[in-house]
Parts: sequence; structure tokens; C-alpha cells
Amino acid sequence: MNDNDKRGCPCLYLIVPCYNEEEIIRNSAAILKEKMMSLISSGDIKKNSRIMFVDDGSRDETLSILTDLAHGDHIFSVVSLIGNRGQQNAILAGLMTAKRADAAITIDADLQQDVEAIDDFLRCYKNGAEVVYGVRRNRDADGFFKRMTASGYYTLMHMMGSDVIRNHADYRLISRKVIDALSLYDETNLFLRGLIPTMGFTSDIVCCDVKKRTGGGSKYTLAKMIRLATDGITSFSIRPLRIISFIGFLIVFLSACLTVWSFIEWMLGRNVRGYTTLILVQLFSSGTILLSLGVIGEYVGKIYTEAKKRPKYIIDSVICGDPEDED
Ligand code: UDP
Ligand code: MG
Repeated sequence: MNDNDKRGCPCLYLIVPCYNEEEIIRNSAAILKEKMMSLISSGDIKKNSRIMFVDDGSRDETLSILTDLAHGDHIFSVVSLIGNRGQQNAILAGLMTAKRADAAITIDADLQQDVEAIDDFLRCYKNGAEVVYGVRRNRDADGFFKRMTASGYYTLMHMMGSDVIRNHADYRLISRKVIDALSLYDETNLFLRGLIPTMGFTSDIVCCDVKKRTGGGSKYTLAKMIRLATDGITSFSIRPLRIISFIGFLIVFLSACLTVWSFIEWMLGRNVRGYTTLILVQLFSSGTILLSLGVIGEYVGKIYTEAKKRPKYIIDSVICGDPEDED
């Protein structure tokens, strides 16, 4: 332990959500194991640290590969979920199962994020940070479409009042205190990137490179991405509802002006022209009404799913190589 360290070496859990990752998971497991072994031998983390894969209802061979890994080596454990619950819920399931962890780092199974940054995560943790965000240096690994949508997304999120950290996905370390605090949050529409910054724990940032995927495709379909993005806004801000009220007010004001203008025209004996104007106004206002209803509907839908209080995930089994690991 370094003299500057505020706390000792932690029992570290790497939480790795996996959905249909058969092509890359063996390779990723080997890289993660090598990293963990070197951290254990340098005394940076405790010997009972683990790599915990969370199988998010994969339909390919991922679960059987992970099961073999966990049976063959006690550094690996596997939490398998019933059905595909999405990355956010898979991460939460892992965090809630890792009861012995002093700190947990969540990382994607494709290891696009640089594993070497874990050293910096630990350094920040030992210096007292309860949350350490992995922030990507650049977006060179992304295509044009992803770069543009990501940039627009962060701008929109900030405009809507959401507190997300720019260019931070779900590569982060959180301490035991944060995991415990997280267990008190009961929301169904989970968006960790927005939620964790609002918790208010001391945090630090580590910059890291993000590589291209080495195998398989992105598990985020456009629909899943849009869902995550809307969750990010509607779970943290009611600003869209306020914007609707503002637009409504603006339209009422404009129509009042138009009424006065039309009246004056009529008084002056001029024919009020404007069939086209009429159609345009009609289209504009009905479009606005439908859009507003959609936004309000989104919030109503959120209230509906929150009110039902259904479990975010159901654990099918937990597999650990070492029986003493039963968390
Ligand atoms: N993932 C998951 N459930 C899903 C979708 C994705 O557990 O429904 C996992 C996936 O296996 C990966 C991580 O979430 O470990 C990030 O997914 P991906 O790499 O496909 O996202 P991208 O990097 O393209 O944003
Ligand atoms: Mg990825």
C-alpha cells in the first residue's frame, strides 16, 4: 500500500454483462484473467477478487462457454438471468450479487474499453474516490453515424437537464458504499449513467482509449439505443413537459396575433387571403399536438411501468468455481 493511499487494497469484482458474445467471450475472459492475476500478484487487489460475467439471456453459446470457464477456474463466476433484460439491468444484477466486493468495475464483454485503465481506476479509488468514470479520449473507433448520434445525444441530454458525463459509457468503478446506496434505488427504468452522478459521491475521471470491436456486432440495435436515450432523458428530467407548455403558449400567442391581423385586414376592407396559411397552421398545430401527446405519453408509460414495480431481472443461477464464493 502506497503512503498516499487513503484505503487499502480492495476485493475487486469485474462485472461483465454479456449478450450473445460467443465469438469473443473466451478471448475477453483470458485478457481479463491476465489483468486480474497481475493486479493480485502486485498486491493491488485482494486474492479473492473475481471476474463476474452476467449472462443477459443469450441465445447463443455464451452461457455454456461461461459455465465452463467458471467450473474450470475459480476467478470466474457467472450470474445467469432469465430473458434479455438489457445491459443496465444485467450490470445491476451483477452488482447486487457481488456481496463481497469492496469495489466493482463494470466493463463491456467486447473489451472495447482499455483494460489497462483499471490501474488508474484503482489509484483513484485508493485516493478516496467512491466513483471513477472511464471517459473515452476520442471517438475514432466509431463510424460517422455513431459519432454524430452520440454527440447530438449528449447535447440533447444536457439541454434536457440530465447530468450525464460526456463520453462516459458504463466503464466505471464504484465502491461498496455506492453499491449499497444503489440498492436503495427502486426505479424500474434504470439508466446508471444518469443515476450515479446524481447520487453525489466523490468522483474522479480516468481517460481511456476505446478500440473497435474484435468480433461479433454491436448488441445495441437502433431500437435499444433509442430506448436507452429516451430513458436517459425521461428518467431524470421533466423539461420536455415544460417545453410542451412553452410551445403551447407560443402557439396561442401567435394565433392571437394572427386574429388581430386578420381583423384589421377585414376592417380595411381587404380580403383575408390565406388558404395556404390556413392549411399550414392546421398542419403545424396538429403536428405539435401529436408530438406533445407522444412526449406526455412517454412519461405516462414510465409511470405505468414504475407503478407495476416488476423485478428488473430474475436470476436463474449463480455459478462459482469456488464454493466459498457463494455470495
Ligand atoms: N449487452 C447486454 N444486454 C443487451 C445488450 C448488450 O448485456 O441487451 C452487453 C453486451 O454484451 C456488451 C455490452 O452490453 O458487453 C455493450 O454492448 P455493445 O458492445 O454491443 O454496445 P456498443 O459498444 O455497440 O455500444
Ligand atoms: Mg461494445
